[in-house]
Amino acid sequence: MTHTPGQEFGNLQQYDDLCARLYTDPDLEPGTRELALAMAWAQLRDPTRHTTNDSLMRRVGFLLGRDRMGRWRHSQLFADDAPRYEPPRAVHSGSCVGPRVRPYRARGAPPPPAPTGPLVCGDRAQISVRERSPVTGQIVKVHWYCRRHAKHADTVREHLARAGEPPPPLPNKGGRLPRYFTPKGLAKIYASVRPGWEPPIYGLCADDWPSDGLPVLVPKRPRLSLVVMEASDD
Ligand SMILES: [Zn+2]
Repeated sequence: MTHTPGQEFGNLQQYDDLCARLYTDPDLEPGTRELALAMAWAQLRDPTRHTTNDSLMRRVGFLLGRDRMGRWRHSQLFADDAPRYEPPRAVHSGSCVGPRVRPYRARGAPPPPAPTGPLVCGDRAQISVRERSPVTGQIVKVHWYCRRHAKHADTVREHLARAGEPPPPLPNKGGRLPRYFTPKGLAKIYASVRPGWEPPIYGLCADDWPSDGLPVLVPKRPRLSLVVMEASDD
């Protein structure tokens, strides 16, 4: 493949433009910016780019190196940018919200003192029922129950099921690189670094995700220079 001085100059201009956008994008995490800059360098400026047989993934890997634990940094950074939904932390544990069970009282025994705390069970919960928004599909509330209150959990679950299956959750993490790089190659990379990852139905790019689950009606942020990525086989 021959590269004319005109093409070389075109690459230079593209690189300069892309760097300017990457440095001024307030939504980029520092690691994502570093990764994007390495991708830009590898594809538009690296002198060996015309002759190498290595994939983009491999070249970016060498540019960013390994972390202290010896792990390739680019893999972790790509995984961080994979567009996905992550439930809030509070989803992972809770205490039972079933009604408080009155302690056993023998006939004729004096009445127990009036309850002071909340009138819920409060035991460590093993059963969770996740309530998802019918609009965004994201988890809006988790109802927790202990085993004694399993029936309450069933009731809540049935009640929620009657409202119908919510849509797949709107992503809330990652999706920044697709602002600058064509999505096809990125999807392949995301899948390779994050086992089980599936592309969201809402698109890879965070700009395309409706904030309230409704279709985006405002014009998308203009994308001036998309770098066409080579397919990665790594
Ligand atoms: Zn309980």
